Amino acid sequence: MSATLFIVATPIGNLSDITLRALETLRSVAVIACEDTRHARRLLDHYGIRTPLLALYEHNERQATERLIALLGEGKDVALISDAGTPAVSDPGALAVAAVHAAGFRVSPIPGANAAIAALSAAGFEGPFCFVGFLPTKVGARRTALRQLKMLPVNLVFYEAPHRIVETVADLASLLEPEREIVIARELTKLFEEIVRLPLLAAPAWLAADENRRRGEFVLLVSGPPSCQGLDAESERILELLLTELPVKTAAKLAAEITGKSKNELYARALEMKGG
Ligand code: SAM
Repeated sequence: MSATLFIVATPIGNLSDITLRALETLRSVAVIACEDTRHARRLLDHYGIRTPLLALYEHNERQATERLIALLGEGKDVALISDAGTPAVSDPGALAVAAVHAAGFRVSPIPGANAAIAALSAAGFEGPFCFVGFLPTKVGARRTALRQLKMLPVNLVFYEAPHRIVETVADLASLLEPEREIVIARELTKLFEEIVRLPLLAAPAWLAADENRRRGEFVLLVSGPPSCQGLDAESERILELLLTELPVKTAAKLAAEITGKSKNELYARALEMKGG
């Protein structure tokens, strides 16, 4: 059987958040490709793993990938890890993985910790989401990206660093609809883990109230736009009733007057009801 590149998830803070299969794989492969050898050593020492390391980071990914493919060509299994969480998710690795596919070797994930999914599981937002990762750092590009993301009918998931958290949250609050909610998930799985859910407009003041709230690593989750959050049961009932007697457009218009909800939202829902 041909050699395999294992993509191994490692903890995002708490060293115990690593799977048994990840530990077995890191012990058994010939080489572990990692972002920062000193950082990787701390994790591996903790588990008594002595596997040789190969540095693979953003600026040497091309050369390191050649070495990695050469090892696979010799029949040796290799594991790829990043500094934290799942490799190739807002981390180096995608280029190496694509090259390994192209070279015809097997790629196999060993799933585990990921900051975005951990935060999403603790946010209480229903429905689909778009994982954005880091927004552009330049103000203009960041705002353009947000204006485009605003149109998506889904929850949004961002990564952010402590030195940009204040400006990013300020942009989210000023550019997205005020009805949206935000979950700020800070220092997940670590000693000072904090997860709060609040109206988007209240987020800048929440951050400003305590400097500790601006420290550490962040996942920001913003609920979908108001139009995708669905109608309440009473509005649905009124619309349904009106639709039994009236055309879609008139029913939506009257329902908007009765309920105070958006005419467009009611019209879209009325079309769905008719279609159904
Ligand atoms: N590959 C990682 C993963 O699977 O989540 C993400 C790596 S990315 C370079 C680092 C960013 O992930 C941080 O700036 C932060 O936004 C987020 N992050 C990582 N660990 C976190 C944690 N413990 N709590 C909150 N956010 C975290």
